[in-house]
Amino acid sequence: MSVIDDPGSAFDLTVPVVVIGGGACGLVAALSAHDNGAEVIVLERDPVPKGSTALSSGMITACGTALQKAADIDDDTAELFARDIQSKAGGKADPHLLAAICAGSGPAIDWLIECHNMDLVLVDGPPYPGHSRQRTHAPPTNSGADLMADLLRAVDAAHIDVICNATVKELIVDGDKVSGVVITRPDGSSERLGCQTLVLASSGFGGNADMVKSWLPDMAGSIYFGHEGNQGEAVLWGQALGAACEDMGAFQGHGSVATPHAITVSWALLNNGGILVNQNGIRFCDESLGASELAATVCQQDGNVWSVIDQSLYDGALRFADFKNLQNLGAIKSGMTAAELAQACRLPAPALEQTLATLKKSPALTAPYHAIKVTGALLQTQGGLAIDSDARVKRPDGSTLPNLFAGGGAARGISGTDGSGYLSCNGLLSAVTLGRIAGREAAIQATALP
Ligand SMILES: Cc1cc2nc3c(=O)[nH]c(=O)nc-3n(C[C@H](O)[C@H](O)[C@H](O)COP(=O)(O)OP(=O)(O)OC[C@H]3O[C@@H](n4cnc5c(N)ncnc54)[C@H](O)[C@@H]3O)c2cc1C
Repeated sequence: MSVIDDPGSAFDLTVPVVVIGGGACGLVAALSAHDNGAEVIVLERDPVPKGSTALSSGMITACGTALQKAADIDDDTAELFARDIQSKAGGKADPHLLAAICAGSGPAIDWLIECHNMDLVLVDGPPYPGHSRQRTHAPPTNSGADLMADLLRAVDAAHIDVICNATVKELIVDGDKVSGVVITRPDGSSERLGCQTLVLASSGFGGNADMVKSWLPDMAGSIYFGHEGNQGEAVLWGQALGAACEDMGAFQGHGSVATPHAITVSWALLNNGGILVNQNGIRFCDESLGASELAATVCQQDGNVWSVIDQSLYDGALRFADFKNLQNLGAIKSGMTAAELAQACRLPAPALEQTLATLKKSPALTAPYHAIKVTGALLQTQGGLAIDSDARVKRPDGSTLPNLFAGGGAARGISGTDGSGYLSCNGLLSAVTLGRIAGREAAIQATALP
């Protein structure tokens, strides 16, 4: 049972604001609750908080930041940012949530730097595809692990307790009001922690194969590249309390992950002339559609897909650590001719020869050739609990639950309704900005209560 209805339940301890999940969203929510005057505690299932945040490149998009202004980018607005996101999402992102996230994004980054001494920089170079301005902020190393380390440092400096090895299995409720949570420890023991307000920052359901099968059937059985601990409890708890879920078919995928090595092969190779062929040696998609868009199509080829490139693409890719790693692992097969490559990959030679000879793609692939066996992967789910612009969890009729907040992967995203609407860095944008909003609103409500 995910929700225990127990009015008047006794608790081992009560804390005004409880946050479930110690990734970017949960840690930012905790900092925000603290700065708004509430005592707050973070509950994290892992021995050390990592989440998908630590697996990421730590890149957070935000508009109107001091870092942008220092780089002479002084015309990036919430409206422009929202337009870019909506354009990728096919107009299907919730406009109110999108407006709140875009407006809150710049202030959130400025606050993390000014008030919590976070080491974030504006990423160099031109804007990422789909972004009208350079608005990507990240640790200087572009490392999600470093982002997590810096957030944990900030949380520690604020004397906020992060309780690890603390899996929340059940919520304790009085009607649809949450009064506390049940924490299960690795030795099987459990504790009851009371709260005035609860923030769900336990991310999405990518680690839950059954939920992926139900909500994202085209991605069922694909490699999951995010944090395994993201089991979709936020959705299950919310549903048990009568909350609405939205955009449940939305996700970020990747259609070119080396198998069995589980290392992403840059989509830039396919944008610059490379092709995907199936086990029959035949090209089966237009690679320009994009990495996430084609993840499901690649999965449907039963994991038997080869990413084919030529020598100039190969030489250019060797400067990337992941590609070099694949080379060292022997994942790259080569042939001086199409027939030789087919033999190395155990593909039918006549079909591959014909595919390459009749290929109309610019720039053209020329012999010698190389190929890597790839499959499709799920990076993160983008559907989740419906929330309003204060990160309050909503019911299907639009009303809000009394004291429940959600952000990051636990909440619906701003990436439309399927695998094609994710604009780069929507994930941490939602985690950081909604984390700040959820923490603030949870603190205001918790401290206002008698
Ligand atoms: C390979 C990869 C690269 C990415 N790169 C980027 C990028 O550069 N930019 C970007 O914007 N996005 C990126 N993303 C997406 C981004 O990582 C996520 O959107 C973001 O980290 C979500 O943050 P979160 O706090 O909601 O979840 P998480 O960081 O996953 O944190 C959730 C935490 O909740 C804990 N938890 C879950 N259930 C429970 C429970 N029942 N009890 C206690 N604890 C629980 C988990 O253990 C976890 O620590 C990437 C994703 C992947 C997989």
